[in-house]
Amino acid sequence: MDPKPQPPQSTLDPADWHDIRAQGHRMLDDMFDYLEHLRERPVWQPIPQAVRDLFHEPLPRQPGDLAALHASFMQDILPYAVGNAHPGFMGWVHGGGTPVGMLADMLAAGLNANLGGRDQMPVEVERQVVQWVRELFGFPASASGLFVTGTSMANLIGVLVARTAALGLGVRQHGIAAGDKRLSAYTSAGAHGCIAQAMDLSGLGMASLRIIPMNERYEMDLAALEHRIAADRAAGFTPFFIAGTAGTVDVGAIDDLRALADIAHKEKIWFHIDGAYGALGMLAPDIAPRLAGIERADSIAFDFHKWGQVPYDAGFILVRDGALHYDTFASPAAYLRRESCGLAGGSPWPCDFGPDLSRGFRALKTWFTIKAYGAEKLGQSISATCALARYMQTGIEQAPMLELLAPVSLNIVCFGYRCADADKVNAQIAVDLQESGIAAPSTTTVNGRLAIRAAIINHRTATSDIDALLQATIAFGEARTQTI
Ligand SMILES: *Cc1c(COP(=O)(O)O)cnc(C)c1O
Repeated sequence: MDPKPQPPQSTLDPADWHDIRAQGHRMLDDMFDYLEHLRERPVWQPIPQAVRDLFHEPLPRQPGDLAALHASFMQDILPYAVGNAHPGFMGWVHGGGTPVGMLADMLAAGLNANLGGRDQMPVEVERQVVQWVRELFGFPASASGLFVTGTSMANLIGVLVARTAALGLGVRQHGIAAGDKRLSAYTSAGAHGCIAQAMDLSGLGMASLRIIPMNERYEMDLAALEHRIAADRAAGFTPFFIAGTAGTVDVGAIDDLRALADIAHKEKIWFHIDGAYGALGMLAPDIAPRLAGIERADSIAFDFHKWGQVPYDAGFILVRDGALHYDTFASPAAYLRRESCGLAGGSPWPCDFGPDLSRGFRALKTWFTIKAYGAEKLGQSISATCALARYMQTGIEQAPMLELLAPVSLNIVCFGYRCADADKVNAQIAVDLQESGIAAPSTTTVNGRLAIRAAIINHRTATSDIDALLQATIAFGEARTQTI
């Protein structure tokens, strides 16, 4: 009888699976405890220097004890994260994650699937999500979609496909300098900085991006856009890309997507939408109508890790013309040769639609999240964050010491404490709030004034968290203005 096959001595698997199983269960329990009791913790706390110093050790040469590493994680890492899972976190635009997403990510890590391509069910799971995304945005079956790190990457892919549309496939071989067209792109002053970065990375240059002013609702000024397109044409440029924003980072404004679609159609310009967090408003019946026109975009970039609550990272790009998307990235390398059957079947592969070859299984945590909660429930949590923003607006309007600094369009509230030297004091209050552990807003500048900005994204945030934020803002404001 053949002896039972033995793993090599050099394997990284444990000799005894019993211990790691018990340790794994403790780790899982700790994370459930963490999520269950999140509310009792500070949102964020400053990292003690002694803890920081622990992470400057030389490369470990010898094995470490897994239980000790877990203890180190619990003591030195977990308490000092950004805190975006916490209900009091309202800084920047961060999603909260869910226990279901966490579990799915564990399964994905165990499977260790590489979703570059090949004939495997994990790729079918990604295709399933692509199909749901098409359905959500009213795109045709020929549209393509791809998971990427985040909207920054998704916007870059949008620019690159639009560049292929404008210059033809030859641009992949010869570069943008080979042609005689000078391309110009358009976005609003409220757009995210990664649009300009995408212009930079694509070789088109940031100066080719025209920053169109905003109207009083912080939406792209349509007359200014049309005027600039005409001026560029007259000056010999080829306008090729309009990036509308669905949910600006500063104030949560939604550009008039219908009007932008009309202009793009009339001018024969690619219409892209940066819907990083706002596009998933399509899941919420009260917000979806405000995104009307999104179904006419040529491409949409968005994140499941913001309003979709999928754990980081889970960005997504949807492109109407799937063939053009494929042509922009597909490469005929011999080692990526396709077959009609076997493991190298199932073409086209995800790696044909973007720059990444090795790709993790982001689709699994997204599939689990959508299946476990359902689109309606996810939509309700999105609506709820907007209701909280309106609740907060009322609270600010009723507090004589507070003022609203921008209209509340969706889920973002910009406000400040009324006082002399308000910019300086409000910047201090924002830090005081963060260091107190009560709430973590961020700051931005609106109309030339510094604003404390609460972006309510997290499904865990409740009215009591808003009350706590406003009360603490007033208390810190009083304390700060007394000492000046
Ligand atoms: C968050 C955000 C981005 C960047 O997305 P990442 O996922 O962080 O790369 C781009 N645009 C808008 C409007 C955003 O809110």
